[in-house]
Amino acid sequence: MNHPSPPPAPASVPCGSCGADLHFKPGTAALQCPYCGHQQKIGAPERRVREHSFAKLAQVKRERTRFVEQELVCQGCGAHVQGEGISFACQFCASPLVADSSVDPQVPPEAVLPFQVDTGAARDGLRTWARTRWFAPNGLKRIADAESMRSTYLPHWTYDARTESDYRGKRGEYYYVTETYTVTEDGKTETRTRKVRKTRWHPARGTVSRRFDDVLVHATTKVPEDHLARLEPWPLKKAVAFDPRYLAGHQALRYDVEPEAGLDTAKEKMAEVIRRDVRKDIGGDTQRIDRVDTAYAKVTYKHMLLPVWVGSYMFNGRSWQVLVNGCTGEVQGERPYSPWKIAAAVLAALVAAAVAVGLYLFFQDGPSETAGRAAGPEGAVSVQAAAEAAGQGPAAAGAD
Ligand SMILES: [Zn+2]
Ligand SMILES: [Zn+2]
Repeated sequence: MNHPSPPPAPASVPCGSCGADLHFKPGTAALQCPYCGHQQKIGAPERRVREHSFAKLAQVKRERTRFVEQELVCQGCGAHVQGEGISFACQFCASPLVADSSVDPQVPPEAVLPFQVDTGAARDGLRTWARTRWFAPNGLKRIADAESMRSTYLPHWTYDARTESDYRGKRGEYYYVTETYTVTEDGKTETRTRKVRKTRWHPARGTVSRRFDDVLVHATTKVPEDHLARLEPWPLKKAVAFDPRYLAGHQALRYDVEPEAGLDTAKEKMAEVIRRDVRKDIGGDTQRIDRVDTAYAKVTYKHMLLPVWVGSYMFNGRSWQVLVNGCTGEVQGERPYSPWKIAAAVLAALVAAAVAVGLYLFFQDGPSETAGRAAGPEGAVSVQAAAEAAGQGPAAAGAD
């Protein structure tokens, strides 16, 4: 399998007007010059997105795909990113980046979902999100202003498969019986009846089949699984055949989840759907599934890049990530709770409560209470003084 290497992807597309490097303009099918504004159409893709046979994965020529000159690796989280306008801080963990000299070959991308959300829209969404976070430290509010967000294509795997699953289980049908029971109340014993639900089980077996299309699996560990999941669903049908021009002016992250591991995750996702199918097939009021044996046929995969604005900021000695869906503008992020702001809010609430209680007492029976208290001690003193005077009187008199 000694195929000659394909021609290297274009490192950059020069502006037809001024010669600067063009950038892909989100929401369009064009490249735009960041300096003179000149636009150049990308044009219809020359080929369709293809699914690749998983059985032939071992024969796929994996290569060191390189779309642009600059490639960097993060010293903190190990993210390999490539793209133009790369900053010195990693968008995934805010650690410093250095030149990437790794040579691990990879399965090249098959499809790309181009960015729709541009810098302005991403920043607007982020500002609104940050403003509406209660108790967020000022560092979070600053992230929207800092230019730390990077338009980054994140690697994903999609899988198609035809499944046929033989299952064994039990179908449960509810029935009701009337039971008699006795109760003792006030020394009298009474017999009563009640309806009780029971389940009758019947053995069940059968076969269910399904065609899975584009089961999506994350191919990076640099973003927590649940954060990426919250960006779903993606308009995958809008993906086009990979063309490095969509990456011009943006960045791409290399995958670190191999396609074999990705398929295991995809099968877990499929298994959930299959179990729902099995329950439906068993029928009845309730079901038990004893075993499911699934055969997978025509398993195909593809490497797909999805657009995400990624940023991170340091707070309290750790980094926090914020993501913006590059298609829908939806913001998902981690946020710390500022202990000072929470303390200040609690204090303010306590002061407000104290003031409210004070006002309540003052306007209810407050004034008379205050008067009574004021009179009390004085009265007591005067009573005591009178008693002392009275006591002293006779004593003094007695002494005399
Ligand atoms: Zn130009
Ligand atoms: Zn990093």
